[in-house]
Amino acid sequence: MTFAPARSIDGGRSGTWTAGSRRRRGPRIVSPHVEIEPKTRYPQLAPAEQPTSVHEIAERLFPAYSIPEGSVRLAGCSLEDRFFVRVGFEFANRSEEAFFDGDGNHVEPRTVHSLGLTRTKELARPPLEASVEVSRVVEAATRWARRELAIPDPPRRMDIAVIWCKYARGKLRFSIHGGVVDIPFADWTRLLTPPPFVCPHTGIRSYHIAATDDGRVVAAEAIARCEETGTRTLGGDLVTCAATGKRVLPAETVPCPVSNDRIVKRAAIECPHCKMPVHPKQLERGMCGACRALGSVRKNDPRLARLLGEYPALDRWRAWKLYESDSKYWISAARWMSRLMIVLDRDTLQIESMAKAPRFRRGWKTIPPDRYEDEMKR
Ligand SMILES: [Zn+2]
Repeated sequence: MTFAPARSIDGGRSGTWTAGSRRRRGPRIVSPHVEIEPKTRYPQLAPAEQPTSVHEIAERLFPAYSIPEGSVRLAGCSLEDRFFVRVGFEFANRSEEAFFDGDGNHVEPRTVHSLGLTRTKELARPPLEASVEVSRVVEAATRWARRELAIPDPPRRMDIAVIWCKYARGKLRFSIHGGVVDIPFADWTRLLTPPPFVCPHTGIRSYHIAATDDGRVVAAEAIARCEETGTRTLGGDLVTCAATGKRVLPAETVPCPVSNDRIVKRAAIECPHCKMPVHPKQLERGMCGACRALGSVRKNDPRLARLLGEYPALDRWRAWKLYESDSKYWISAARWMSRLMIVLDRDTLQIESMAKAPRFRRGWKTIPPDRYEDEMKR
């Protein structure tokens, strides 16, 4: 093999060296942006094994996902050719091979291996070679050799080849029952691995994708069922019933008016006294905790005064007792032959339940809402 004399590859400015024996005489390619000199074209190579089409990208990515009720497709995928430069340095008594990226940075052996830069094939139709850029990489390679290989003199010869690698950029689009989530990806096609689906609601990274009944596309691991309705939703949407421990949708619960615990509607038990649905634990001796805690109040108690302002007809009642929770008032009163029990919203004074009982007998009777006004006047 004969070595060519040192020669610039971009018209004498760069002071770099190339090997005449590897020059190829290709057709002159004319481009307004890229200066190509046929005599200085280097071998144009590509990794022997790298995905080069969108179809291959899809084949590589799609099988990783389990989407029993939906599908995945590519929502845009572009393939870009990016070059590396392989430089064989020949010195007086040794030779070295090194790889550089398009910015002239030395490429570590591990990356060289993973990108397949050592097992290449010649490209039948290479991308346009940007000779000026390649010459800059060769200049950087020369500086690297002087510095890293501790060789004071320029190499006798530099055997240069351009290796084109495919870089892919795009989005995976996951669709289930009309719900859609896109996950972006970007990597060398040889290194491209299926990115995990990142659940937009929980942040869970997964390859199992499902949808909630209300159409949100989520990680299957995030799905939970309401134990009352069977609705598929996110675990985070559910609340725990304080009475049964069931995980249920909030709409299936009511707050216990005494303790404020959320309990499944079906688990709530009506207090025989005030008729409010309460946590079963609240019932003792036939009454909820609020009814047991009723305490006497004077008529000039501001809470009672406010109530009488709103419902003047109540003024006919006596023997007032009151209990207040965070959100409600329990108020009982008595008259000659009957007793009255009312539960009201603390903020609005809206009546939430009413019951009446004979003065000296047990047995509270629920008063329906449409009779509240009449009953108070009796
Ligand atoms: Zn009660």
